[in-house]
Amino acid sequence: MPELPEVETVKNILKEMTLGKKIKSVDVLRKQTIEGDADLFASSLIGETFSDFGRVGKFIIFFLTNNKVMISHLRMEGKYFLKDEKEKLTKHDLVVFHFTDGTKLIYNDTRRFGRIKLSSIEDYMKEEPLSKVGPDPFMMKDSKILEKAFKNKSIAIKTALLDQSIMSGLGNIYVDEVLFATKVHPETPAKLVSKKQLNEIWKASIDVLSNAIKAGGSTIKSYHPKQGISGNFQVNLKVYGKKDGTCPNCGCKLRKIFVNGRGTTYCPHCQKNPAIPTLIGVTGPIGTGKSTVTKYLEKHGYFAINTDEIVHILYKEKSIQNDIKKFIPNLKIKGSDIDRDFLRSYLIKNPNKKKRLEKYIHAKVVEQVEKLVKVSKKPCVIEAPLLFESGLDLICDKIIYVDAKKDTQIKHLESRKSDVKSSLELNKNYNTSNKKKATHIIINDKDVANLYKQVDSIFCK
Ligand SMILES: [Zn+2]
Repeated sequence: MPELPEVETVKNILKEMTLGKKIKSVDVLRKQTIEGDADLFASSLIGETFSDFGRVGKFIIFFLTNNKVMISHLRMEGKYFLKDEKEKLTKHDLVVFHFTDGTKLIYNDTRRFGRIKLSSIEDYMKEEPLSKVGPDPFMMKDSKILEKAFKNKSIAIKTALLDQSIMSGLGNIYVDEVLFATKVHPETPAKLVSKKQLNEIWKASIDVLSNAIKAGGSTIKSYHPKQGISGNFQVNLKVYGKKDGTCPNCGCKLRKIFVNGRGTTYCPHCQKNPAIPTLIGVTGPIGTGKSTVTKYLEKHGYFAINTDEIVHILYKEKSIQNDIKKFIPNLKIKGSDIDRDFLRSYLIKNPNKKKRLEKYIHAKVVEQVEKLVKVSKKPCVIEAPLLFESGLDLICDKIIYVDAKKDTQIKHLESRKSDVKSSLELNKNYNTSNKKKATHIIINDKDVANLYKQVDSIFCK
């Protein structure tokens, strides 16, 4: 469906092609396309001239002589063609305006959802459909209309912005672009979007729409009337329709969801929903005190998500086992579970398969963690040594990296009766450069009271 920028472009092309043309007669080939009496519509237009063109939301306004106004909405597939009289009509030509200069303007619509209505200069804004169309972002002086309308609305901000009676002009494509530009999660309850964010949404709407209008403007020059004026132009889109793409800001994989039935693409990292509890990631090498930090947060009301447990459950699922069998065909199943002893020794012998399995299972774990956070009533904490490698970092709101000197690590490992030598060996390969990606770093070289104090200081801020 064409959106505001495309409709604006169609309007501009129509103006360039038909301004000043005088109507000789009108043929309505499908009466339902006309709102109101089709015969009266046709006879009223005889002898009138197209004197100007306008647009309200996604409606094209034809201003005619004698204070007459024609309103056209293209809906899904509506198109206008300007042709010579001698050219034959085609199957989906629904309304034909014959001009006195030997040309004709044809309204063509394969889906037949488009509508045309005749009104007058006095009434066209007062009666439906235009009486129900809110101002577009270009007509607004500020974002007060949005503030007022969304104040008590629990519906998703995307759905609220698509409601043309509040602010018109954003359709499914550009609303995704605007929400991406303003870093607002499309499912955020409208009332939780701050005044500051609403102001940004309004401004971004102007930016996004005017860029698209500019892009459409350049197509006017190359426009060929035979192609029909459909308004489906290619515009520079960042997220819409790019569900397999990556975020141009953070590199995170974009995600597609459905919001009130409408396909929606967004970045799970850049666009956070404040209605979903926060997720704190705790990471760092072995023996630094990650578990102590996690348990401390748990004691203070956080829900601890255990990734080992998630993997355990996932491995028992038949669909997961079948997926893994696609790249490890001889995978052994013990009872209903994957044979862990087999898997461990197999992966040691096949490092490439190990990488493949990790990539696969990490994505599944991230999915499960997101689901758990979404239904959690409390803020959540997740402890994962490979937080960055697994992609879990991208869904965390805060990341605490716990570090400690080697001596401290040994002390911790000994007190836990862990295998000190093999743990330190694992730590040798630990990617410490991820530390700079963390939002908070805790150095745990003093006592536990000091550790707690450092955690407290993060949350006091
Ligand atoms: Zn992003």
